[in-house]
Amino acid sequence: MNQGTTRQFHCPRCRKPVAWEGNPWRPFCSEKCRLVDLGRWAQEEYVIAGEKVSEEESDNNN
Ligand SMILES: [Zn+2]
Repeated sequence: MNQGTTRQFHCPRCRKPVAWEGNPWRPFCSEKCRLVDLGRWAQEEYVIAGEKVSEEESDNNN
């Protein structure tokens, strides 16, 4: 059993097969895919945070 020498996986964003070993962007294939995914996360967090702030403001008005 000589598996694991050339481990490969598929990038969760573009589904391109990439080598796992020595890949600084894993689990993505490249910096671009990694940044796109991180950006998506940040956007969702921003929306949730904005809603929270609105609620607090309404509370303070009381
Ligand atoms: Zn990719």
